[in-house]
Amino acid sequence: MDFVDTCVIGGGVIGLAIARALAAAVPDVLVVDQAASIGQGISSRNSEVIHAGIYYPADSLKARLCVEGGRQLYEYCQSHGVAHQRCGKLIVAADVTEEAALLNIQDLASVNGVNLSIWSGAQVTDAQAHIRASMALFSPLTGIVSAHDLMQSLLADLEQRGGSFVGSTRVEAIEAVDGGFVVLCQADGAEYRFGCRSVINAAGLGAQVLAGSCKGLDPVHIPPLYLCKGLYFSLKGKHPFKHLIYPVPEASGAGLGVHATLDLGGRVKFGPNVEYVDEADYSVPEARREDYFQAIRRYYPQIEKARLVPDYAGIRPKLQAPGGQPADFVIQGPSVHGLIGLVNLFGIESPGLTAALAIADYVHTDILGY
Ligand SMILES: Cc1cc2nc3c(=O)[nH]c(=O)nc-3n(C[C@H](O)[C@H](O)[C@H](O)COP(=O)(O)OP(=O)(O)OC[C@H]3O[C@@H](n4cnc5c(N)ncnc54)[C@H](O)[C@@H]3O)c2cc1C
Repeated sequence: MDFVDTCVIGGGVIGLAIARALAAAVPDVLVVDQAASIGQGISSRNSEVIHAGIYYPADSLKARLCVEGGRQLYEYCQSHGVAHQRCGKLIVAADVTEEAALLNIQDLASVNGVNLSIWSGAQVTDAQAHIRASMALFSPLTGIVSAHDLMQSLLADLEQRGGSFVGSTRVEAIEAVDGGFVVLCQADGAEYRFGCRSVINAAGLGAQVLAGSCKGLDPVHIPPLYLCKGLYFSLKGKHPFKHLIYPVPEASGAGLGVHATLDLGGRVKFGPNVEYVDEADYSVPEARREDYFQAIRRYYPQIEKARLVPDYAGIRPKLQAPGGQPADFVIQGPSVHGLIGLVNLFGIESPGLTAALAIADYVHTDILGY
């Protein structure tokens, strides 16, 4: 039977970042993915925002890893030529009734070490004449990144450190054995197995099923998964946006409201909304246009409905049940489940892209301890 030191299951931004970090410490790190190439899952269907770490509860993994990950990500993008832009973001109160919520956000952010400045409605109009706000918070650290460029760069680093990626390979089962694991895969209709010392389950939407296939892992450690869809509409033609524009977040904590995000090609898109679904489907129904139009016109009154076109959708791997309490990332190692060498990552929704490099360090040093 073939043997590698570490098998990372999932070639999204999280698996690639972890594999790259581990490859600096151990000899052969293999990333496997059921898709033919890297980044075909959640990592290619998101807003590509580098978050500052504003909304997450103090001391949560989301807060810590987002703030640290964002700092590392800017440095990484600069040193590795990954396309990005620190364009800043405005969180806008549409009227005075929303201003108290902004002040709460400012307090929460400052506990996380993130400074947001208050802008008056007039300052907002000076900077972005088309935006209507009674008050706003400005986040200078927020930016955008090309997720695809980032993943390509992480893969190049991994390969340079002696690691590799194998696509079109679905992991069907994992078995804990003496001194490590046996991984059972399907590739091109054939089954094969190999041994490894460590397994990193970074399978995104597939993390729970994969953990459930792990012989020796007590299912009590597998949190329920809730699929939560987010749709995007883009704006046809020219637009006046310079900063990202966010409304006050939804009270449920499930989403940040239908916001305006720029991409590196200069386009603006609106979304994502929050829709819990039973199955992952990526359609963007025309019928949602009216809801988007109504949400956007609260801060961008000149929006023309006919210029909103259905774009793409992503699915969040939420641990927060519909109507339930917001949940943190769950990153489990042997101290939780008792299997030395196994790391499970559950619920890596936003800000996972921002936090990827810090998540990798956390898995490497805090969970595996090498
Ligand atoms: C709508 C939306 C907007 C978002 N916006 C942002 C944002 O602006 N900023 C931000 O920081 N974060 C954002 N996020 C979060 C971010 O996109 C994710 O945290 C991150 O991409 C998760 O990466 P991943 O590697 O865990 O998952 P994935 O990219 O899905 O990778 C997991 C991989 O595992 C593979 N896999 C699954 N099961 C198996 C198996 N059994 N065998 C082999 N392979 C398997 C899949 O094919 C997949 O490629 C957003 C997410 C969504 C859904």
